[in-house]
Amino acid sequence: MSNYKNKTNETFNVVIDDVAIIGAGFGGLGVAIRMQQQGLNDFVIYERASDVGGVWRDNVYPGAACDVPSHLYSFSFEPNPDWGRAFGPQEEIHRYLQHCADKYKLRDKIRFNSSLSDMAFCETSGVWNLNFDDGSQRQARAVVMAIGALNIPQYPEVSGIDDFTGKVMHTAEWDKNYSLDGKRVGVIGTGASAIQVVPSIQAKVKSLSLFQRTPPWVMPKSDQSLSPARQRLYRRWPILQRAVRNFQYIMMESVLPAFIWDSFLTRIGESIGRRYLRKVVRDPILREKLSPKYSMGCKRVLLSDDYYPALTRGNVNVCVEGIDKIDETAIHTSDGQRHEVDAIVFATGFKVPVSGAPIPIRGVGGRLLEKDWAIGSEAYKGVVVSGYPNMLYVMGPNTGPGNTSVIFYIESQITYILKYLKALRKNQNTYFDLKPMVQREFNADIQERFKGTTWMSGCNSWYLTKDGKNTTLWPGFSWQYHFTTKHFSAAEYEFVSVKGGAEEFGNSVATAS
Ligand code: NAP
Repeated sequence: MSNYKNKTNETFNVVIDDVAIIGAGFGGLGVAIRMQQQGLNDFVIYERASDVGGVWRDNVYPGAACDVPSHLYSFSFEPNPDWGRAFGPQEEIHRYLQHCADKYKLRDKIRFNSSLSDMAFCETSGVWNLNFDDGSQRQARAVVMAIGALNIPQYPEVSGIDDFTGKVMHTAEWDKNYSLDGKRVGVIGTGASAIQVVPSIQAKVKSLSLFQRTPPWVMPKSDQSLSPARQRLYRRWPILQRAVRNFQYIMMESVLPAFIWDSFLTRIGESIGRRYLRKVVRDPILREKLSPKYSMGCKRVLLSDDYYPALTRGNVNVCVEGIDKIDETAIHTSDGQRHEVDAIVFATGFKVPVSGAPIPIRGVGGRLLEKDWAIGSEAYKGVVVSGYPNMLYVMGPNTGPGNTSVIFYIESQITYILKYLKALRKNQNTYFDLKPMVQREFNADIQERFKGTTWMSGCNSWYLTKDGKNTTLWPGFSWQYHFTTKHFSAAEYEFVSVKGGAEEFGNSVATAS
């Protein structure tokens, strides 16, 4: 405990933890489990909701599922032989994360309903001051930001949007109590979320108007249920499941060259995509509407077995004219059409460029992360940010996979975070601040590697800032990223001594109470 003064100079007793982990999704739980396994028990997880799961708790729209094979979309240290489908549906993945929290006895270490409102680094004591929405404060020597990269829903700026009197839902803020059955529904957007929700509601709604701005590349998913016999086999012979996972990893990694460089491999991928579209959509007018006009891979390639078939049904209208405005009961398009709807589903994605710093984060000298990242977020190995000592990101800038499982990247970050925390534990009364030059050189190299890639070939994607800088993806193979996170080099950091004051860190077991 230490005394802490808030803005109005009232004094509180503040609990100081060694490590505060923000978020109990894949990232936060993964860091916590691996910390425990390595004997680092002085941590608390702060979770804004009342359950674990992150995006897999929140995205409950019909059809929500993963487009990465289940065996690969799970922790390497916690294989799940019981996956029921080749590609995990939302409830199964959420259950898997609940299982992880229970098996590793993490619930007592999680302070639920704790939404971090801001945090600031104190150079005198070398700790972070954390303020929560409920007025409570905590301090921590290191903060792991496992807040996820895609969690702030993006609503488009359309005039009249507030005048609409029907139901409005974003895919990431789905109202399960509202039934779309028999309704006239407008779905805006044709990204990864839209291609899942559209086929799941198409047969139930009266009519479905799909407002498409850019036709995506869609490939068959080949999803299937996994039989109880196969689950038994994996339970009995875990090595088989490991082999399947490794095979899936190699397959997903091997498609990267087709996405990353605009080459003959891209053309092969595009011809497979076009053939699939021709096979499913026989109507040439609809097919032309759905034909992508950019190089495959520039935006996320989507996998679905039921999206194109759903669009061929009689109650679906694909509108490709831009949206002009919305009135009380309809969506107006630029061709003068008025599309009457009872409900609008925004499948319009997330606020990505600011997602790294959704709250005020003040580092050394009071610098503000939001300002430092105003023209694009930047970190070292996607984990550490110069000027923000002992703050460690999971899924920070330039760590998104264009082709494979995000969990592989998360585990690589955990490797680095553990090395960092162990070094910090060895150096009591010290904080580490990354040398600015190290971050600059790392990012200059990343941006150089993006030159000439398909991602930079001119399409408008959430991978890029509005100035066209790619701050989201890793520009290479995931194993290359893995190797960058294997070593922690003390020479890359300033070791700054502080007076101390906090009790020795790392020698106690923190609790969430
Ligand atoms: P998204 O990929 O950003 O797609 C948003 C869609 O909304 C795009 O089609 C976009 O059109 C459209 N849009 C935005 N503003 C519009 C406007 N004013 N008028 C018309 N259309 C508009 O969002 P998302 O589908 O939610 O997916 C986001 C990310 O979440 C994915 O890339 C993926 O990383 C993750 N995700 C993953 C899974 C999975 O299976 N693992 C599932 C869902 C989501 P433009 O293309 O023209 O911009």
